[in-house]
Parts: sequence; C-alpha cells; structure tokens
Amino acid sequence: MDSVRARPSGRTKSKNSADPLGRLAMKTRFPEPLSGMQVPRFGEVATFMRLPIERDPAKLDIALVGVPWDGGTTNRPGARHGPREIRNMSTLMRRVHHVSLVAPYELCRVGDYGDAPVNPANLQDSLTRIDAFFCKIHAAGAAPLSAGGDHLITLPILRAIARERPVGIVHFDAHSDTSDSYFGGEKYTHGTPFRRAVEEGLIDPKRMIQIGVRGSMYSADEKKWAESVGIRIVHIEEFFRRGPDEVIAEARAIVGDGPTYVSFDVDGLDPVYAPGTGTPEIGGFSTAEAQRMIRALDGLDLVGGDVVEVAPPFDPSGNTALVGATMMFEILCVLAPAVHRRKNRLRRL
Ligand code: MN
Ligand code: MN
Repeated sequence: MDSVRARPSGRTKSKNSADPLGRLAMKTRFPEPLSGMQVPRFGEVATFMRLPIERDPAKLDIALVGVPWDGGTTNRPGARHGPREIRNMSTLMRRVHHVSLVAPYELCRVGDYGDAPVNPANLQDSLTRIDAFFCKIHAAGAAPLSAGGDHLITLPILRAIARERPVGIVHFDAHSDTSDSYFGGEKYTHGTPFRRAVEEGLIDPKRMIQIGVRGSMYSADEKKWAESVGIRIVHIEEFFRRGPDEVIAEARAIVGDGPTYVSFDVDGLDPVYAPGTGTPEIGGFSTAEAQRMIRALDGLDLVGGDVVEVAPPFDPSGNTALVGATMMFEILCVLAPAVHRRKNRLRRL
C-alpha cells in the first residue's frame, strides 16, 4: 500500500540518495492536473479533474471520458448534459485522496480523452459510435472511467472492453436495469443494459452484485430474471440492515480476483443528495456511505468504471454534478492502484 501513497508535494526531483529509484522524478513523466495554487480553480478550460486533454489513447493508462447521450432514457431526459457539468464541478477535486493518500496521477497516466461521439437522433447509431470509441481506448491498453449519459451507455462500453472475456460488476443503483423490453419490444433503453450485457456474454452474472435496489417495478420479471441467472441483488432494506462494510465484503467475495467493472448510477443515492437525475427513488444510501463502499473496493482487479444518470437540468444548484465528479474521483483512487499493479506485473514478466 505504501508504494501507492502520495509523496509530499513541492519537490519534483532529488539530487541525493533519498530517492534512489527516481520516483520523485516520475512526477514529470505523467500528466498532472492544473494546480489550483497556480491557476485558480475557476479559471481555464474545465476538463475532468483539470487534467490535460489527451486524444492519443496510447499516451494514457486511464482515459476519463464523457458520453453525452441520454437516448436510452424512458422518462425524464437530461443526462446528456452530465459530462459538461461533471467536468465543471470536477475542478473542485484536488490531487490526493484524504483517507488512502492515493495520488492517482503519480501511479499512472490519466487524462481527459474527450467525449464519445453520439447521434442524438439515432439510438443504434449512437451505440455503434460509442462502442467504436471505447474500442480504441481498450485496444491501446487504457482503462476507461466515464461520465454519462444515461445507463444504456454501459452496454457499448462493455461491448468494447469485455468482448474477449466477461467481467464482474459492482453496480450501485436504485434499479436493477434488467428489464427485457419497453414499449412493445424495444430492447435498448436505460432499463435494459445489464440484461443485454449478460445475454451478450459481456458480464459473468455470477460475478455481479447490485447494491441499493428499491422502488416500484414495471414487473417482477426484472428481479426474477436477474436472480435466475445468478446476479446478487442487495435491496436497500438489506443494505441498511447489514451496513456498507458487510455488503462490500460480500461484493468482494462475489467478484473475486477476476477483472471487475464499477458502475455507479447516481440514483442509487437518496435524492436528497442527488436530486438531479431522471428516475429518483426515495430511501437510498448517502454520499458518505457510497464513498465508504467505493473505497472498500481497493485491491480488486478493476478494469474501468462509470458514473451515470447525472441530469443537471433537474438540479440547478450543481450539487448532483459535484456528487458525480466526487464519485469519479473516488473510483479513480481505487482504479489507479489496480492499473498500476497490472503495469508492474507486466513489467516484471
Ligand atoms: Mn441505472
Ligand atoms: Mn437507476
């Protein structure tokens, strides 16, 4: 763990033997966020975490990506505006995690890779474009961490990164998103991505856990189908009975040491914390509980993640976008150590 902790700031190189491995000099090798000590946080172009824009995936280990698309939304739209507002609020993120002391930008190359191309007038074309965009990231060996967009974006992301082997999923959400179809047979909405992904062999359902599920359903089928294929659903009642530590201990056992993706739907949170979302459900977990759970994913073999369903038009205060940006930073601080471990393992081979 010590090897992934942040160095004291303010020094970029060392002339003496205190740094025989040259770790301090590494700082100049990796992109760094624009410092709020040099350019105030309200200034300059708002990129994710104030990182440089990097359009070459070969120069990244982790690509922060926006997917400004909500064509899978069945009720209240607005998540297409998520990436821009999350970028804005992410300028509040500093560089070192205050609990783990992880500084992701010292562990690997992280940059803002821009937005996936979308076609707001055509759902299938958007899925194709998003898939192709993430294929480039995956082929270059980078791990994606994305800001949605509605939850259907997770399907083309998984098509890009999980084709060669299914992944496990830790999925935070008020909804199972395992319905079969809407409106007489439409198979692709933000209520169906995980059913499609299991059918397409992108997810190992026995390595999938959903946390925070609640609210009325269209039909009991979504729950029955999910459980019939082996997905573990932790309803919010069970979450409150057992607490975040015990639930994440079970999540870790379920996903094991195989490749694992984290999908965070902000509507898993109680709407008092995240009102800016299309399908709010009362009685959810808190932001502090969500942070505690994400931090407890440290050590898993994480291969990517997303934060979806931030719909800024429903929250003019900007707080839901701040919550989205903060959850992205929390995921980044467990994803970067996983990427760092994989790189070191490859280097030793
Ligand atoms: Mn969802
Ligand atoms: Mn949801």
